[in-house]
Amino acid sequence: MNGTVLVINSGSSSIKFQLVDPEPGDVLAKGLVERIGEDEGRLSCTAGGETRERTERIADHSAGFALALAELTDSGVLDPDTLTAIGHRVVHGGAVFGEPVLIDDHVVSEIHRLSALAPLHNPANAVGIEILRSTLPGVPEVAVFDTAFFHDLPAAAATFAIDRDVARENRVRRYGFHGTSHQYVSERVADVLGRPLGELRQIVFHLGNGASASAISGGRAQDTTMGMTPLDGLVMGTRSGDIDAGVLFQLHRQAGMKVDELDDLLNRRSGLKGLAGVNDFRALTELIEQGDADAQLAWDVYVHRARKYLGAYLVLLGGVDAITFTAGVGENVPALRAAILQGLEPFGIVVDPDRNASGSGERHIGADGSATALLVIPTDEELAIARAAATLVRGSR
Ligand code: ADP
Repeated sequence: MNGTVLVINSGSSSIKFQLVDPEPGDVLAKGLVERIGEDEGRLSCTAGGETRERTERIADHSAGFALALAELTDSGVLDPDTLTAIGHRVVHGGAVFGEPVLIDDHVVSEIHRLSALAPLHNPANAVGIEILRSTLPGVPEVAVFDTAFFHDLPAAAATFAIDRDVARENRVRRYGFHGTSHQYVSERVADVLGRPLGELRQIVFHLGNGASASAISGGRAQDTTMGMTPLDGLVMGTRSGDIDAGVLFQLHRQAGMKVDELDDLLNRRSGLKGLAGVNDFRALTELIEQGDADAQLAWDVYVHRARKYLGAYLVLLGGVDAITFTAGVGENVPALRAAILQGLEPFGIVVDPDRNASGSGERHIGADGSATALLVIPTDEELAIARAAATLVRGSR
């Protein structure tokens, strides 16, 4: 059991964990602790083909991690003595972190300091780091930041056109999120195409509950749809994506909505949920099949927004060699991919309907004559985190 990495995604009321053998990329165990702090918490863990579940009160994150580690140890997959590293997903690396880093006291305090930029995420990420530092003190820990891939966005893409002093003082800029996924997928595209990453112009659509697109040239991000927060850009499950900021002033002045209500409106009651009443794409598709007009409009707005960014990024990159879809919706909804790519033959973008409608795993969906490669690449953020952590730890020895 040598060379495994424990990958942790510590959220405000849940902990996702995976034990990964980074090369070749085997998942040895995968689990979730949820409803931390509620009356009834839940642990589920799959290891060796067997899934075990427990329901009990899980008072806090310390109790959650203790349960998860006990489960991994009991099922025989985790031996702390042979753990190479613990890799933590950290949402916000701000302007500070452009790469994965080995965690020390300074890194922990920076992650806390960046909580102002990601108040819902960074504190929970930091709690996970601190608990494992004291529980497994001999195991190196690595932080992998969701923003890191976009750390070096060109200034023209990263800058919002507002008063520069206000922006500077408040660290207002485009940071981008889902970076681990965009980087992993764009690197896989180069492998699948058998072409050097350095010569590819790519557009990646990460369409899950949260959704973002990125423009990548030579392996470096040139722009992305999420902004200072994950609220910007594409239509999402419950988030609005792009909206005229003036709408907020109007809702405040006319409807008396306070800042927390506006936050709730745009982050949790908008997107597909706001337009169609459901945030799950499967439910949306079912409503459309039943003839629901609101669901159809939600679909149309979603597709329109995605196509708008496709066009923008096509111009920004001066042409595109590969367009790739990933995450729950991007990987599983052929009709949506077809709608986003429809009618783009004049740009050398030609879908093959049969390839698009079938298959699983990494695959081509473009027609033989398509100048732009069209692909589906399942994302694997945990594997990317495990590999980044293992590489960093081995390099530091
Ligand atoms: P996140 O990681 O952001 O929570 P996911 O990448 O898991 O999200 O994507 C969740 C979305 O993917 C949901 O809207 C869900 O309905 C959709 N989805 C997942 N599997 C399928 C499927 N087989 N068919 C249609 N939609 C799917």
